[in-house]
Amino acid sequence: MGKEEHVVADDKVVALNYTLTVDDQVVDSSEGHEPIEFIQGQGQIIAGLEEELYGMSVGDEKEVRVEAAKGYGEVDPSANVAINRDDFPQEIPMEPGVEVTLRNQEGRSFQAWIQEVGEENVLLDYNHPLAGKDLEFMVKVVNVREATAEELAHGHVHDGHTH
Ligand code: ZN
Repeated sequence: MGKEEHVVADDKVVALNYTLTVDDQVVDSSEGHEPIEFIQGQGQIIAGLEEELYGMSVGDEKEVRVEAAKGYGEVDPSANVAINRDDFPQEIPMEPGVEVTLRNQEGRSFQAWIQEVGEENVLLDYNHPLAGKDLEFMVKVVNVREATAEELAHGHVHDGHTH
């Protein structure tokens, strides 16, 4: 390896195995799954991780520490809202930590997490559960290839299923 086409750079499709550790706990890992695939340089993964991948070759492993600000952001204590239980979608389990996709009045969808379930209201937190946390990634570059013109135009990887 070490040839230029196998080195992570902008507009390359990178396949990456990773393990994410937060506060000494593994919170996410590609182990037992396919590696994640993304187009480098397009902000498709955490900014602080993407920056550290430039120049890595297929087979390279690296430990990457990402501070909260370049990870899921700092915690915004005002980023929450109470929703009346009656207005809460019935198909979603009303339990703390559950991720919810909601639409605002303009029809834009956004993610929130249930913080607290009260007698009348459900308190939702817009902060990502990993906001304010430093992230420790162990990554291994599994594959690097040129993105096709179509993938670049669409802004995502075509794995044979997506178009
Ligand atoms: Zn596409």
